[in-house]
Amino acid sequence: MFSYRHAYHAGNHADVLKHTVLIAIVQYMTQKEVGFTVIDTHAGAGIYRLDSDAAELSGEVDEGLRQLLKSAAEKGLELDELLGEYVQELERFNPSGSLKVYPGSPLIAHDYLRRHDKLKVFELHPTDSRMLIKHIEQLRAGRQINCYSEDGFEGLKKLLPPPTRRGLVLMDPSYEMKSDYARVVSSVQDSLKRFVTGTYMVWYPVIARPEAHDLPRRLKVLAQESGKPWVHATLRIKSGQMGSQLDVLGTNNAPKRPGLAASGVFIINPPHTLKPQLKSSLPQMVELMGQDALAGFTLDSGS
Ligand code: SAM
Repeated sequence: MFSYRHAYHAGNHADVLKHTVLIAIVQYMTQKEVGFTVIDTHAGAGIYRLDSDAAELSGEVDEGLRQLLKSAAEKGLELDELLGEYVQELERFNPSGSLKVYPGSPLIAHDYLRRHDKLKVFELHPTDSRMLIKHIEQLRAGRQINCYSEDGFEGLKKLLPPPTRRGLVLMDPSYEMKSDYARVVSSVQDSLKRFVTGTYMVWYPVIARPEAHDLPRRLKVLAQESGKPWVHATLRIKSGQMGSQLDVLGTNNAPKRPGLAASGVFIINPPHTLKPQLKSSLPQMVELMGQDALAGFTLDSGS
């Protein structure tokens, strides 16, 4: 328990997919004047240095964000609107022009909120939770943000429905424990009973584990039972590696493990604009970060 640290993975291809989708949803929600709440049940440390030992040891950002930027420059490819917005958001966190830090989901979400929107974040790892609280304090956002060093699946219950009945729940567990897959499903099921019109976004690793394989299918059943629309997107950057996303840490003496090859996001009650946006962004992600012939994406939806 608790060996997962997002510092090793910040800016990898899975973050590119997840944070691009997060931006698309939060940007859409700001189009209506009424305030909304973002609940991040597994928030991580908030912001990550890309020159840290952890980032350098795993090298994952080199296959993800850095590769995306490098290929786009080499190919002279103009990023589509959504990926362009994602890159601009990273530039706002790196005003010197060189990529030094990578913002995690709570800081990205916060950056798009208006004064009357709210952010609620959960992080259970003692060290990452302390770092998250420190990073949130630096935002000087006051009561706009609540930070809980608690179990996000449990804590979520007391926050639904949000006061304005507009909200996004991001569930991004580490899946360090197999039980996380079942907890995601039961948490989404319970949340839909409390707040059926909420938007739910679940990230998961595409790995050779029955629970991971079943997760999007089970979420689709929940969406259909609630009569709610859904979008499901996956991104694969290379063939092979089917282990868990924890299998990425090399040591100074051993070669790095190959890292996670693919991941997915499942969204219930997505903005109607999300699928067309992803139809444009996903092929660019594959073109820019794909490493071999098995790189690709899937994009499905239902209502
Ligand atoms: N959402 C973050 C982002 O995109 O920047 C990354 C989160 S990381 C994949 C998952 C985090 O969940 C880890 O920091 C881990 O310590 C934390 N965690 C694990 N189990 C948890 C639980 N039951 N409740 C809250 N946080 C948990």
